[in-house]
Amino acid sequence: MSQATTDDWFDTETHVALSRRAFGDINPIQNRHLAAREVSAGHPARVEQVAARTWMIQPGISNVALFETDAGLLLVDCGCAGDGPALRDAIRSCSDKPLHTVVFTHGHVDHAFGLWALLADGERPRVIAHRNLVTHFDRYRKTAGLNTVINFQEPGASGRAWPSEPEDFPRPDMLFEDGCELRLGDERFVVRHAKGETDDAAWVWAPERSVIAAGDLVVGYLPNAGNPRKVQRYAEEWADAAEEMAALAAEVIITGHGECVRGAEAIRDELLTMSEYLRFIVRHTLNGLNAGLLPDEIVDSLAVPEHLAGHPRLQPHYDRPEFICRNVIRRYAGWWDRYPANLLPAPMADRAREVARLAGGVEALAARALELADSDLRLAFHLAEWAFLADEQNPDAQDCYVRIGDRRRDAEQSIMVKLAFSEPARRVAAARARQRG
Ligand SMILES: [Zn+2]
Repeated sequence: MSQATTDDWFDTETHVALSRRAFGDINPIQNRHLAAREVSAGHPARVEQVAARTWMIQPGISNVALFETDAGLLLVDCGCAGDGPALRDAIRSCSDKPLHTVVFTHGHVDHAFGLWALLADGERPRVIAHRNLVTHFDRYRKTAGLNTVINFQEPGASGRAWPSEPEDFPRPDMLFEDGCELRLGDERFVVRHAKGETDDAAWVWAPERSVIAAGDLVVGYLPNAGNPRKVQRYAEEWADAAEEMAALAAEVIITGHGECVRGAEAIRDELLTMSEYLRFIVRHTLNGLNAGLLPDEIVDSLAVPEHLAGHPRLQPHYDRPEFICRNVIRRYAGWWDRYPANLLPAPMADRAREVARLAGGVEALAARALELADSDLRLAFHLAEWAFLADEQNPDAQDCYVRIGDRRRDAEQSIMVKLAFSEPARRVAAARARQRG
């Protein structure tokens, strides 16, 4: 039997440690209840002054930017629902001025849902967002069940696992298209629309402080521009935004997660390397599509140059370059992998049983998978999956599927790949539970 046959890798220490590397100080309990107002990060917010009258606040897994002006406070983002009270307290430790304006960098569950605690405290800011934030929230309502599953969420005390009811959503007072300028007292702030991980993204430039609040457009690891289970991402527009930010020669970027970036040279290096990286993948993919290559051929021939792949702040801790490539393919060429048999396929279990029959049985298929694992783990995984799908109750197939899934998972550094590769352990556990029941 395999060592790491936990039913749910999401709760393991390894996963928590890796998530902390990418997203900051994750509390695994909050991580299961991102949409629950009653579940907080469980520790005081981290508050870091980054410029005069300017702070980065980390109430949980995501960052918030706070700008104090003579007219009041400008807040960029507000964390998860459960971060609200800690964020309120952190803001009050920095300034007693009223909350004047809130800008959302996008509508994700970890960035736009903590405002309720400040509103409950009597604050009445104007709330500004890109107009696509409204459609983003509509999508959240339509796909609450799907998001519950793919984000490993569980219901909070409200009974809801994902924002789905009107009262869950903050309501913007002002929507913008390409961007807008804000005046707080006699200070100017520039809000710019972008597309990156989402189509409702925005970033804020404070020219007099030389600070950018970038939201998830800058996170300190490879952009999440290819997530296999989520809606379209925008690699090209992400590169555009990175270049637009780089041209400003800012001294500080308050990122969406993790550490700030400091110093004009480090900022320029990170942003321009990021845009070059994204553009390299897009160009490679479009060249392949235009040459008539199959999606698999395009992905298999992707070779990211070392000066991009080796950048310490563009490591694939979360996403992978191959997934960004697939996302570009989906954007321009649809979902079909161009293997004709896969267009209207036979059920996967039927295919698997036929492969097992040809191999001389499920046990033979599982044995071959284990034999191959040392030389070609990727290929071995297919055989192991066929063996399990051919007969989910076969102990050899179950054992083989978990062992090879765990080996693939342990060899990966991307969190989203690790989660996907912990599926065999979960599926085998479910099959064994059905067997017992
Ligand atoms: Zn985020």
